[in-house]
Amino acid sequence: MSSDQHFVIVGGGLAAAKVAEALRSRDFDGHVTLFGSEEYLPYELPPLSKEHLAGKKALTEFTIAPAQWYRDHHIEVRLGTTVTGLDTAAKTITLPDGSAVSYDKLALATGSTPRTLHVPGADASNVYTLRTIEDSDALIALFGNARRIVVIGAGWIGLETAAAARAAGVEVTIVELAELPLRTVLGPEMGEVFAGLHRANGVNFQFGAQVEAILTEDAVAIAHGVRLADGSTIDADAVLVAVGARPNVRLAADAGLAVDDGVLVDEHLATSDPDIVAVGDIAAALHPTLGRRIRVEHWANALNQPAVAAATMLGKPAVYDRLPYFFTDQYDLGMEYIGHVPTDGYARVVVRGDAAAREFVAFWLDSENRVLAGMNVNVWDVVDRIKELILAGEPVDPDRLADTAASW
Ligand SMILES: Cc1cc2nc3c(=O)[nH]c(=O)nc-3n(C[C@H](O)[C@H](O)[C@H](O)COP(=O)(O)OP(=O)(O)OC[C@H]3O[C@@H](n4cnc5c(N)ncnc54)[C@H](O)[C@@H]3O)c2cc1C
Repeated sequence: MSSDQHFVIVGGGLAAAKVAEALRSRDFDGHVTLFGSEEYLPYELPPLSKEHLAGKKALTEFTIAPAQWYRDHHIEVRLGTTVTGLDTAAKTITLPDGSAVSYDKLALATGSTPRTLHVPGADASNVYTLRTIEDSDALIALFGNARRIVVIGAGWIGLETAAAARAAGVEVTIVELAELPLRTVLGPEMGEVFAGLHRANGVNFQFGAQVEAILTEDAVAIAHGVRLADGSTIDADAVLVAVGARPNVRLAADAGLAVDDGVLVDEHLATSDPDIVAVGDIAAALHPTLGRRIRVEHWANALNQPAVAAATMLGKPAVYDRLPYFFTDQYDLGMEYIGHVPTDGYARVVVRGDAAAREFVAFWLDSENRVLAGMNVNVWDVVDRIKELILAGEPVDPDRLADTAASW
């Protein structure tokens, strides 16, 4: 690849940093520029709701590479710079000062933004979301002062933050529209496990509950609780809104790239424009093994897709076919999940081990007893085996799978 080429990366998170790294490790010797909105070098997000929030890890420990690494690898990093426009015909991006930057190949890695609530009081100063290091630092300060908080949403971020708050001695009420935590991602069987875990650690749940308003003192716009649709209220010193994230696809959509729930990419991670790839949270990628397009907001995806995207930018054949993989840590529960359960669901969940003791492997099976996904909870070194079962695509014997005395 000739050295006068300019490859541009838009986005300042894990996926963006890994594209830069992969380009250099594939010996691309052209110019690489990474534009990121935040003032920080790319860092990992999982610690923001776990070790960092618990005061156990500083930002430097989860910054992907230090400034010197970018200098050594001749990667120009433009922090605090939000790319505002993309012209695919001219092959330029636009910067906030109106200037245009030309690219030969472009990688989009713009990540996600937390969803907000459209209810009265949502803009009060002590209503929080969690996506950035600044958000996490603000919550640390909050946990030092608050006696009780309300968390809206019992998804991963809401639950992990609740666990950190409980560890800091803060009372937590989680308000959730569904009847269980993680209902849509794990289903009711495993939702119960997480409900039990949090109850055992002193979290109050309000399920089937819709927040109608965040209550504020009119004059100061500081939240002091929430009102639910049934008219009941919950007092709180602060509110965390953890109702999911939406992919940052505006740049791609405005430029006319094919966009649906995310930026549509093929198995090579190329967008509808062959000179542009998309990676990480925004990529709705055609998955060759699963035979459909999936978009996942997972750390492993942002970590691993960039190698394929960089190859595609360099005109080398590469396909992204890893199964989705996710992990969480809450209290003394650590888990990994691999696989993908389609929106039309699963037929049954088989548990191998002791769900009550929170030490088990769960398998999601389809109607023909094929394994779609597996989750190991406080059981380790089994992800490869679960992966084999999924990729084999063969029916399994559910009773044998559940029998801890039998091999699997
Ligand atoms: C608190 C938290 C905890 C998590 N924990 C886990 C976990 O335990 N396990 C797991 O698997 N996943 C977890 N995730 C999800 C995982 O971290 C994400 O899927 C992953 O970080 C996505 O990486 P990304 O690079 O695509 O996006 P991001 O990390 O969101 O990075 C995108 C970056 O691009 C910047 N940007 C956006 N638009 C522009 C623009 N126009 N110009 C320039 N820059 C722009 C953004 O400011 C941001 O810095 C967690 C996420 C959060 C928020």
